[in-house]
Amino acid sequence: MNNELVEFLEQLRHRYPAETEFHQAVTEVAKSVWPFIEKNPQYRKAKILERATEPERTIMFRVTWLNRHGEVQINRGYRVQMNSAIGPYKGGLRFHPSVTLGTLKFLAFEQVFKNALTTLPMGGGKGGSDFDPKGKTDEEVMAFCQAFMNELYRHIGPNTDVPAGDIGVGGREIGYLFGQYKKIRNEFTGVLTGKRLNWSGSRIREEATGYGLIYFTEEMLHTRNLSLTDKTVVISGSGNVAQFAAEKAFLRGAKVVTMSDSDGAIYDPAGFNGEKLAYIKELKNVRRGRIKEYAQQHRCQYLEKQHPWGIKCDVALPCATQNEISEQDAKTLVQNGCICVAEGANMPSTPEAVEVFLGRKILYGPGKAANAGGVSVSGLEMSQNSLRLQWTTEEVDKRLAEIMKAIHNQCVRFGEADGFTNYVNGANVAGFRKVAEAMLDQGVV
Ligand code: NDP
Repeated sequence: MNNELVEFLEQLRHRYPAETEFHQAVTEVAKSVWPFIEKNPQYRKAKILERATEPERTIMFRVTWLNRHGEVQINRGYRVQMNSAIGPYKGGLRFHPSVTLGTLKFLAFEQVFKNALTTLPMGGGKGGSDFDPKGKTDEEVMAFCQAFMNELYRHIGPNTDVPAGDIGVGGREIGYLFGQYKKIRNEFTGVLTGKRLNWSGSRIREEATGYGLIYFTEEMLHTRNLSLTDKTVVISGSGNVAQFAAEKAFLRGAKVVTMSDSDGAIYDPAGFNGEKLAYIKELKNVRRGRIKEYAQQHRCQYLEKQHPWGIKCDVALPCATQNEISEQDAKTLVQNGCICVAEGANMPSTPEAVEVFLGRKILYGPGKAANAGGVSVSGLEMSQNSLRLQWTTEEVDKRLAEIMKAIHNQCVRFGEADGFTNYVNGANVAGFRKVAEAMLDQGVV
């Protein structure tokens, strides 16, 4: 590594000693874009990378609410408004006990470049809380969401910052958050995306990240004259992204054999069909049960406390959480014949795992490109809200597929060298370039 780059990263670690996931995300981007910055001294002079790693604004607040027993509960809420050079801050809210400021800074930083790739005018942000929706009643979730919005409403707005869902935040939570924002502000605006269809949501938003992931995977496979038909696919997670990735992969003729949650993975060698996927959706979204129940119901293998990466596959789609594929998992995947890894989750592969994928020259699509379908349709939801119109399913799906293709093209354009596309470099350089140009245009702000 270049000395200046080493020094930049050391300073970052010194400034934010506890934020290891943030260091990890910045290190990956900085390594990719450094040669590009050296060729373009105007970025160096304007300290674009230094400015891009300091959030424009960080909001942290106390959230107090009463549980079903009338006991006082205290959580911490956050919103990291990372960069607004190309549009209003945009990015999800995560409700999970593991949430820290460092987690949200890594996600917000990634979001800036992801949003730049989508071709839509959106800046980057991320927020959330250490609140755990698991095991809570609907009333408790509502009480928490209302208390959270009682502070967040001051900092967001349809032209300022437009949050959406992420882990632990789905249609139910977006509904409670939107209802409270509307009550406080007395206005019905597109302040959140992921809204339900009958109150100005977009068609395909729920499906967008998973479907977009599959469109991106297909683009990658096409570069090697391959398709998803008859490929064995391994998926982690069983939430929003995993469910719709599995659905679209199945519709494209692939055999999806695994899903997981934080307790373990299921392995169904026959593959999921429409009926089995409907069971999983009902189990996870309505009954809010554990994936283990699928194994009991369908008499298949349950891998307790395990990830699915030991199962032989052609394509792996990590769709649960960050750092869920270790170096050893990556080696196992490649040894078992996996030719393509596309990330539905954000940063699911450790840096060592990424090295394995790139070293073996398999198709490796990083999250900021491969899972950008969700925020893309969120951007389309914002457009529809501004127009006070709702587009058809076909219209939104067509635009989603076009955007994923455009993202893939940018990755190839900026990431191809010696006949191999390094999608990490491609996505980082293409996203960085767009944001950097806008920051230069707008002066030192
Ligand atoms: P959900 O909350 O709907 O589902 C998350 C899934 O991952 C659940 O199956 C959950 O299991 C599992 N999971 C969460 N944390 C862990 C953990 N620490 N270890 C093992 N499993 C875990 O979230 P989404 O599907 O929305 O998000 C999944 C990933 O996709 C995240 O990385 C998110 O940032 C990313 N993403 C999401 C987008 C979206 O539109 N929703 C857009 C782009 C990226 P359990 O139920 O046991 O917690």
